[in-house]
Amino acid sequence: LRGVVALDGPSGTGKTTVARKLAAELGARYLDTGAMYRLVTLAVLREGIDPRDTDAVAALARDVAISVGTSPEEPSVLLNGEDVAEEIRTEPVNRAVSVVSAVPRVRKILVVGQRAIIDQVLAADGGIVVEGRDIGTVVVPDAPLKVFLTASAEVRAARRSAQDSAAGRAVSAADTRASVERRDRLDSTRAASPLRVADDAVEFDTSELTVEEVIAALSELAGR
Ligand code: C5P
Repeated sequence: LRGVVALDGPSGTGKTTVARKLAAELGARYLDTGAMYRLVTLAVLREGIDPRDTDAVAALARDVAISVGTSPEEPSVLLNGEDVAEEIRTEPVNRAVSVVSAVPRVRKILVVGQRAIIDQVLAADGGIVVEGRDIGTVVVPDAPLKVFLTASAEVRAARRSAQDSAAGRAVSAADTRASVERRDRLDSTRAASPLRVADDAVEFDTSELTVEEVIAALSELAGR
């Protein structure tokens, strides 16, 4: 793959699994922009900052050392050099991340970081699958392929639950569904870069599809 595949959608649509497998199959890099918002959120929580204190949150976003790797097989997630790949998926982070990511200055800082990573891959004539909420609308509005994944609320909650139990996190199905729906509502209604389908995106309902079926369809769209 050359160029950018923008993969957006709400949580629980299989975005992360699809993005990583698609990148591996296309011999491309992978960028999880959600991990970047989660890293800033984890830093906010660890510092004891109130997520609603936008000035303190923005100042921390500017100063904190976050890093995400672009290997689809092993994407590293580091906060001040510490591997926090597990911790960014825990419930306290799930609960606070939409508030942190609604802060315009946080988004500005992270979008600059995301474009720098993407530009580096493109400068080397490579390809990259970028997943998030605003990739096709804001981060890379000229991406040649934009995909918006959807799935029914039931399916999305079930997928999140499966991920939680696979990772050894005990969360009830009802709590997971409430948590996912709350986050999607906040992400879709915020003023700064709300989750929405880009005009030129291909919309894909994954409710009834296996990961393999989604990958096959997207590989085809990506031109191989
Ligand atoms: O993709 P993931 O569920 O890990 O994203 C976590 C949160 O980060 C989202 O619920 C959203 O609030 C925020 N996010 C965002 N813009 C992105 C990616 C994630 O606002 N491009």
